[in-house]
Amino acid sequence: MNDPEEMRAMVLVSAGKRLQRVAMPVPVPGPTQILIEVHACGVCRTDLHVVDGELPHPKLPLIPGHEVVGKVHRLGEKAVGFKLGDRVGVPWLGSTDRSCRYCLEGRENLCDGAVFTGYTTDGGYAAYCLADCRYCYALPGAFGDLEAAPLLCAGLVGYRSYRMAGRNAERLGFYGFGAAAHLLAQVAVHEGRKVYAFTRRGDSDAQRFALSLGAVWAGPSDEMPPEKLDAAILFAPVGELVPAALRAVVKGGTVVCGGIHMSDIPSFPYQILWEERSVRSVANLTRQDGREFLEIAAKVPVRAEITVFTLEQANEALEGVRTGRLNGAAVLEIHA
Ligand SMILES: [Zn+2]
Ligand SMILES: [Zn+2]
Repeated sequence: MNDPEEMRAMVLVSAGKRLQRVAMPVPVPGPTQILIEVHACGVCRTDLHVVDGELPHPKLPLIPGHEVVGKVHRLGEKAVGFKLGDRVGVPWLGSTDRSCRYCLEGRENLCDGAVFTGYTTDGGYAAYCLADCRYCYALPGAFGDLEAAPLLCAGLVGYRSYRMAGRNAERLGFYGFGAAAHLLAQVAVHEGRKVYAFTRRGDSDAQRFALSLGAVWAGPSDEMPPEKLDAAILFAPVGELVPAALRAVVKGGTVVCGGIHMSDIPSFPYQILWEERSVRSVANLTRQDGREFLEIAAKVPVRAEITVFTLEQANEALEGVRTGRLNGAAVLEIHA
């Protein structure tokens, strides 16, 4: 393989600014790292929260992107599990300290010393990217590079939210029908659940899209569904949706907040939480979540609806995610 010294990257220099196109040195892998030639990188709503400065203390300057698909180009001296040329996926959970109480309890998603791809370490909006091989995934052959990218966060973290909704949730609501919901709706339908899709009022495109994926009902998020839900997952980062979803679930029902950031939740009467309804958040992912989701995604098989941009169009892709005008997921197609 040829060994270029420079690579293209889209870089966040300070919060609230547009990403800048730069040429920079190709990084060198540390002992347990691999250097990946990036082929595709998904654009997640979390990237928008990082770029907008809604998440504290990002690495700066930063290469965003935590849904990275590519080929192993170089191996660190202690890197195991992959060989040169293997296809590999890099998720949000870049690495953990493997020693804090959460790691020792099998809850590495809550690790005190976690490193997050495209947030506290550089990610995949670039021609090359480093990753700790112990946190990377081999990807099922059922998916092309572009289709596999959104599975790595929208899919994985979405799947953790989906599991938290409870195995018995037969009627399942999705508030916000974007990248994560469109993937998990397919898993839910495959598992025989009824999906109710809530979108922005007037967004008939998203409602049609949800029905085409097997949702039994689609409507605006300020409307009550025709039947009460067993559980609801909030993927839209809108605090007002928490009381709306609580009103829509049955006694004992669960409302799962699947995003990393949300606007403030307005106060609401205790009455709508009472009768053992619960509200919970989901943070990050464990490697086990990833393995389970990729296995089930290949079985369904989950089809990601994607809108493709070039690396240099990263700012436009982020704007597309912001306005919610894309059906499905935005993905950058990248060539070294
Ligand atoms: Zn830890
Ligand atoms: Zn993400």
